[in-house]
Amino acid sequence: MLTLHRLVQEKTGSRLQACQGCLFCDSHTSAEMDITISALVQMVIYNDFEVLTTRTLWSDAVLDGARKACTHGFNLHGAILALREEATRRGVTDGGGA
Ligand code: SF4
Repeated sequence: MLTLHRLVQEKTGSRLQACQGCLFCDSHTSAEMDITISALVQMVIYNDFEVLTTRTLWSDAVLDGARKACTHGFNLHGAILALREEATRRGVTDGGGA
């Protein structure tokens, strides 16, 4: 079974383990979020499947903002879509809010 960061890398070409931790992505906020985008990235890196149930993952406002959220070129928009797809494949429901 693929780890989450490997799954994201295969779907988007982005290797999230190389995240610089600059926290620029955290300037994108939404009332729908329960965790920051950088925290979402860290959960993916640590293969924490709880990320699949976060409201942040399922927020369309976050998804829109994710297109330009990373200054280091990571495709966070694609990563979110890949994680949503994986959650759906696993029958995981969203975080109950978005
Ligand atoms: S903006 Fe990109 S490099 Fe910086 S913390 Fe967020 S994901 Fe990592």
